[in-house]
Amino acid sequence: MSPAPFRIYNSLTKAIEPFVPIEEGRVRLYVCGMTVYDHIHVGHGRAMVVFDAFTRYLRYRGWNVNFVRNFTDVDDKIIKRAHERGLDPAELAQNYIAHFHHDTDQLGLMRPDQEPRVSTSIPDIINMIKTLIKKGNAYEHEGSVLFSVKSFDEYGKLSRQNVDELRSADEETGKRHAADFALWKAAKPNEPTWPSPWGPGRPGWHIECSAMSCSCLGDKIDIHGGGVDLVFPHHENEIAQTECATGKKFATYWMHNGMLTMTSGQKMGKSLGNVINIRDALKEYPAESIRFYLLQNHYRSALPWSGTALSEALSMLARLYDAKEQAVRMGGSEKAEQVAQSLGTDAQQVLDLGLSFKEKLLKVLDEDFNTAQSLALAFELARAINRFAAHKKAKKRGGPVVAAALEGFDVLTETLGILGADPKAFQAEVKEKRLEAMGLDAQAIETQIAARSQARDAKDWALSDSIRDELNERGIVLMDTPNGIEWKINL
Ligand SMILES: [Zn+2]
Repeated sequence: MSPAPFRIYNSLTKAIEPFVPIEEGRVRLYVCGMTVYDHIHVGHGRAMVVFDAFTRYLRYRGWNVNFVRNFTDVDDKIIKRAHERGLDPAELAQNYIAHFHHDTDQLGLMRPDQEPRVSTSIPDIINMIKTLIKKGNAYEHEGSVLFSVKSFDEYGKLSRQNVDELRSADEETGKRHAADFALWKAAKPNEPTWPSPWGPGRPGWHIECSAMSCSCLGDKIDIHGGGVDLVFPHHENEIAQTECATGKKFATYWMHNGMLTMTSGQKMGKSLGNVINIRDALKEYPAESIRFYLLQNHYRSALPWSGTALSEALSMLARLYDAKEQAVRMGGSEKAEQVAQSLGTDAQQVLDLGLSFKEKLLKVLDEDFNTAQSLALAFELARAINRFAAHKKAKKRGGPVVAAALEGFDVLTETLGILGADPKAFQAEVKEKRLEAMGLDAQAIETQIAARSQARDAKDWALSDSIRDELNERGIVLMDTPNGIEWKINL
């Protein structure tokens, strides 16, 4: 089966374009990864979750995806942090890579197909710099090598800037143009260094992604991804380095996710002190609610962040799980059309929505990967399930009517990684993570429920009702199930 066509916004052309692969059926995808000098926070999490979901979606649509995401494990920030802590920079980086894997595994992310690191890519980096010097695109100065922006006519094409108004932040001396940037930095005292034709030193930041994407995916790639904050200088410089070194167009499409923004309009960042690490968020919220939060807006839009963002995302996700649970519990073995006819319009509607869900879902994902619209469709379906569930025969006969809806939810799981858990397992994780945060104690709740059952057995309805009301006030909902009384947190 040939893969399904889709369209994607290209930051290079600033337009939504049909995807045309370099090689039929394949997607070569490179995404800029973490600089490993600290834990991954919710802001980093967006690029990780967006490209994880995008990869799942592409594979579901039949594409053979080769997904590469790097680790920047040689960098000024790593060296500085290591010195502050009296550690070897390589050791510090290695520790944070282990933390990153732990946290992103917990978050339910797939590992990329390849995770190259700067420290193990030095020969590729040196080779590319040698090529750039040979071709007249780079020059040496006192043991450092700088890229000459004036040697590449198209410099500035991604960020649409005039090269003569730009300057690079690199501190190397001997620049021929203020925007020239470092490919290789001459050794400074107490820094990790590698031998090179220009003397001991280490790579600049940008060259690593050019060298690693070429060595992992070839000279040309289909999609280059990353946060929109990387457009300049990082991605602009990647284009200049790679296209000068190979003489070919580097990435066909540039795909950038928007940033998390504080309600005040600030960007989330370590320097602003408004950062929540994924590992801390995971202690208080189910992993999937964090994923849901990060996918709820279109990937190119800003994503508002506030102290209530994750609890709001959790309560939205819980609504989807409630609907799924209602649907799962419905029985019956008649033909769906028969049941819909006999149970009325709500039944007919949930059947119709369920049957058309997959097609509508894929349509919005095929048009610039619109996760916001895909979740809106899921809520439309969830509301229809809830309306139908109110019918007194729904539980006994509704199963065939909601079967298509449940299959639709499965497609949501396969493409976005949302709603894949058993509703009971989801509830269990909610209890495990939210009870303490909400000031509740499972033992006390169970004791009250037992007291209520006793009151009911004794036909003391007043006492039984008052216990239930008291629990409701504290956000605990009781449910009569075939297995007896179960409870959940009202989110
Ligand atoms: Zn990069």
